[in-house]
Amino acid sequence: MRCTLILVGTELLNGATLDTNSVFMAEELNKVGIKIDLKLTVGDSLESIEKALKFARETSELIILSGGLGATDDDLTKEAIKNFLDKKLIVDESELEELKAKFRRLNIQFLDKNYKEVEKPEGAISIKNDVGMAPAFFVDGIVAFPGVPKELYNMFPKFLKFYTEKFCPDLDPIYIKDLIVSGIPESILEEKIKEYFIDPNIEYEFLVKDYGIIVRMQTSNEHKIAVEKIKEKIYNSVGKYILGEDKEKIEEKIFNLLKKKNYSLSVAESCTGGMLSSTIVTVPGISKYFQEGIVTYSNESKIDRLKVDRNLIEKYGAVSKEVAEKMVSGLTTDIGISTTGIAGPDGGTKEKPVGLVYIGVKVQDKIVSFKFNFTGDREKIRKKAVLHSLFELYKILEEDE
Ligand code: AMP
Ligand code: MG
Repeated sequence: MRCTLILVGTELLNGATLDTNSVFMAEELNKVGIKIDLKLTVGDSLESIEKALKFARETSELIILSGGLGATDDDLTKEAIKNFLDKKLIVDESELEELKAKFRRLNIQFLDKNYKEVEKPEGAISIKNDVGMAPAFFVDGIVAFPGVPKELYNMFPKFLKFYTEKFCPDLDPIYIKDLIVSGIPESILEEKIKEYFIDPNIEYEFLVKDYGIIVRMQTSNEHKIAVEKIKEKIYNSVGKYILGEDKEKIEEKIFNLLKKKNYSLSVAESCTGGMLSSTIVTVPGISKYFQEGIVTYSNESKIDRLKVDRNLIEKYGAVSKEVAEKMVSGLTTDIGISTTGIAGPDGGTKEKPVGLVYIGVKVQDKIVSFKFNFTGDREKIRKKAVLHSLFELYKILEEDE
């Protein structure tokens, strides 16, 4: 079973919007075992959409479009599908009523042009839109979704379930195991674990991300046990570098440990400038444990708020092991993290280059620090500092178990 994705929208071609819909759809399709042949991006033009449909039909049984289903004049996807299939556009009365009711509920005036939102080619099946206006529809191997990501996320799984059950019930779902690895260079990681990658039924990939490397193993469900066995071997070899699995987030893992131990947390940030606090507060329920995040950017602030000794800064510099440790010791909670580093692009020296970051971690009376030499631009260095600080804290808390 092969398919083509057609992303419709001039904004996707001129750089105004990043196409994230195809990433979402690709992941979902991959999980159920539908392969993507081709991905085409076209502007809001009838001619381009029709051209893409013709091209896609040559190779794919299933064509998936996103974008251009709305009520405005630049929404042309339905018109293009109508021309391509040579079918009339019709309106289902009950769908029209439902749409009008949505407008009433939201207190928005229903205009003539809004009819367009429930039009669909004759014979099409609608997919209910629980979070927006225009429903998606499926006809003759073509399915069209609105471009608004949250609407796509609502309807795409429903469509996929319907489609696979009806047209390809024998597809073997894909099993994916991701191991998130950090703190070890890709080439060394590969040397250490490649001997396990010999099963021809499993695809192996190294995906390099900002926060580390994802070791991905992908296979059909029937080979799931083989993947699990390899996973165990990888843990035995490089377990200390494994941050988590699949969609697990380090901040959520820390949250679970804080909950278990009933520990309070606070952070003192210099080079990360609030990014660490911001990452921590993405976890719902963290307010019970996270007491404060202070951005002590200047030397004065480090001295005033954290009681870092001025002499210490003068002697070792603000970016130093000594200051990172003193910063974290100035926090009063059970757990603390401090960051101090040179995010660049300026400010680096031979002794203290851009990317040098010290991280302090405190777990009750124990204080330790870590030195990193990160690469990348300012944003990347700060992001890496955040993730590695959380990772180091997690390792200490876990060892404590
Ligand atoms: P449309 O359904 O074409 O009116 O799209 C509505 C909005 O959804 C656009 O203005 C974009 O902000 C967003 N959008 C459209 N296509 C995509 C895409 N491929 N990825 C992410 N967002 C998109
Ligand atoms: Mg559009």
